[in-house]
Amino acid sequence: MTRQPISRIDNARLRGRDGLYTIGVESGRIVSVDPQPTAGSPPSADRVDAAGGLVLPSFIDLHLHLDLAYSLEIVPENKSGTLLEAIALYSEAKKTFTPDSVRERAVRAIRDEISFGTGAIRNHVDVGSTAGLRLCEGVLAAREQMKDFIDIEVVVFPQDGVIRDHGAVDRMREAMRMGCDIIGGIAHYERTPEDSRRQIELLFDLAEEFNARIDCHIDETDSPLSRCVEYLAAETIRRGWQGRVTASHVCALSSYEPVHAAKVIGLIAEAGIHVVTNPGVNLHLQGRFDTYPKRRGLTRVRELMAAGVNVSAGQDCIKDPFYPFGTGQMLEVAHLLVHADHLSLPHQVEAAMDCITVNPSRSMQRTDYGTEPGCRADLVVLPVDSVHEAIRCRPRPTAVIKNGHRLTS
Ligand SMILES: [Zn+2]
Repeated sequence: MTRQPISRIDNARLRGRDGLYTIGVESGRIVSVDPQPTAGSPPSADRVDAAGGLVLPSFIDLHLHLDLAYSLEIVPENKSGTLLEAIALYSEAKKTFTPDSVRERAVRAIRDEISFGTGAIRNHVDVGSTAGLRLCEGVLAAREQMKDFIDIEVVVFPQDGVIRDHGAVDRMREAMRMGCDIIGGIAHYERTPEDSRRQIELLFDLAEEFNARIDCHIDETDSPLSRCVEYLAAETIRRGWQGRVTASHVCALSSYEPVHAAKVIGLIAEAGIHVVTNPGVNLHLQGRFDTYPKRRGLTRVRELMAAGVNVSAGQDCIKDPFYPFGTGQMLEVAHLLVHADHLSLPHQVEAAMDCITVNPSRSMQRTDYGTEPGCRADLVVLPVDSVHEAIRCRPRPTAVIKNGHRLTS
């Protein structure tokens, strides 16, 4: 993969604006956005011609598992298709993984994401008694290898639980010291509701110890009895961690009866919790205990948005025992999202685009994300003239720009 510095993008179409623009780029930043002059300018190596195509800030994949990517062939078949069987199969297989084998598969997935215009990833890396720190070493090596091309946040993720895996907390601590950024969790996976609550308390203890944000897998089940996210919200408020906590999946919320769901959505909003839905994986793993009608598995995306909750959408998995599909294309994720939650009106399609751009940037606490002067020149150029067409056609980008450099594979 190579980098070529650019000084501007011509003939760019921008979201929410009429006409075409020329975007000036200097030292990795956008320095100007002006109406496109009518007189043509001579071609040069440092100029990108968007040719009337849509220019967006680079996509952000807020939920991914790089240590799992492309492991489908090396893990036995998930016959039930459930989350629980996937966790069990992966638990066995990961004993054989080396840091270098993880790094290789992770780099392959990162390259895929970049090729489709992703500029930042939040990755959850499996740490615990079985995984040890080998998977973490592999993912951190992949991040280092690809650091000029993409930003990666790493979440320490106790895949096998925290209370039911005695070694998890120590491994999480060590992984944070190795350079990981965010405390992860899997609250619904403990043996009892009491243990789930204890896990959440431990996650906050670690978050306080490292002054870190939290991103917790939570209520990733159809069972209406899984009620972890309300405790996560309550603890977020108690600890003063508002705005610093992300709840990933939150599937069970869709199975709560409406009165309780409304209460929980209010709590999530009050706690300033960011929510990530993973449409492909939720459609695939959830509803497995249903006959017909089958639930869709996603959280209540529209209701959360209506309550003012910051909702993002992630890829989650690329060809692994949890999900045999996934390409690293965030436009495909948005395409699945609009289908899964009936986001078909123009403003809803725009909202789906927000789920893979500006909303995850808020969860990442980025203040220089966008297409305005001053923003980082992390951009993707698409050969379509609207957000609707981008999600409908899901084209490959004509240019991917990172820190003011055009990337080519
Ligand atoms: Zn996940």
